[in-house]
Amino acid sequence: PSPAPSASSAPSAPNGPPAAKPVSKPKTTLQDFQFGRTLGEGSYSTVKLATSRVDGKQFAVKIITKSHLIRAHKVETAAAERNALIRLNGHPGIVSLFHTFQDEWSLYFVIDLAINGEMQSLISRLGSLSTTCVQYYAAQITDAMEYMHAKNVIHRDLKPENLLLDNAFRIKITDFGTGKVLENGVQRATTFVGTAQYQAPELLELKETTKSSDYWAFGCIIYQMIAGRFAFNDRSDYLTWQKVKKVEYEFPSGFDEQAKDLVEKLLVHDPLERLGAGPSGSWNDTGALRAHPFYSSIAWTSLWTDPAPPVE
Ligand code: ATP
Repeated sequence: PSPAPSASSAPSAPNGPPAAKPVSKPKTTLQDFQFGRTLGEGSYSTVKLATSRVDGKQFAVKIITKSHLIRAHKVETAAAERNALIRLNGHPGIVSLFHTFQDEWSLYFVIDLAINGEMQSLISRLGSLSTTCVQYYAAQITDAMEYMHAKNVIHRDLKPENLLLDNAFRIKITDFGTGKVLENGVQRATTFVGTAQYQAPELLELKETTKSSDYWAFGCIIYQMIAGRFAFNDRSDYLTWQKVKKVEYEFPSGFDEQAKDLVEKLLVHDPLERLGAGPSGSWNDTGALRAHPFYSSIAWTSLWTDPAPPVE
């Protein structure tokens, strides 16, 4: 067999000048960025603000120390995050991964900057969010989550810490380290992951997660944005799990009625009965979620271009 053509062996025309060599895009390296303040620390990474020396654009760069990654047995986590982000690139509600590179010590993920930080901080600062804000953020999470699921990725750790806000106060879902790419028609994953307050009953009882488990977490998030506290929580993870398994939670007085109805339709024990969650293999019932009256004021087609409502 003839060898595959390589970039360095440009063919020449029989009687004319040699053809121009294909120009390969220069590789992005550490030197292309000027680093600024630290935006946050994760369990195995530091995230820094960085400005591109090429075009002046600002990014967040996640710096993962290789030795730490190996010591903490997180090599697979970093790989999972990269794979999921590559698969999901292009949705406005999910952080985009622009470049990855490495040096001797670290891996670098250049991602969208979400300058307004975590939804968790917003809830903590304000106590709770206005109904208009919750409708808007719930719609953005719905849209991003449906895209993610259409691409066969389950997040498995949706929570307000993993919902970042960009400069226009729009949602950017992050932290796909525990994300699962479902290959070859597989519908469930069986690794124990997540955060007690948002873990679905099927994870605790059957040790499995499906796309519907993200809908459970989404129900917990809507509850928290309105109530300002967890739907399920107790003194220990064990006690929290007992409440989750029994779907034991209460709405504070004054909780918006339509939001209450939506939360009740998401925090359902049977994953197949959650609003928007069809039976495994026929994940096509998402219209049901968007049709809920809680979203009646949402303009879905301009969801990512309309200004965010005042944060209050
Ligand atoms: P863990 O890796 O332990 O799950 P984490 O998700 O918080 O934790 P990182 O994704 O490394 O870890 O993020 C660390 C912190 O950096 C976040 O809590 C957040 O405040 C900040 N951060 C992460 N990504 C961005 C971003 N794209 N823009 C702005 N800040 C960010």
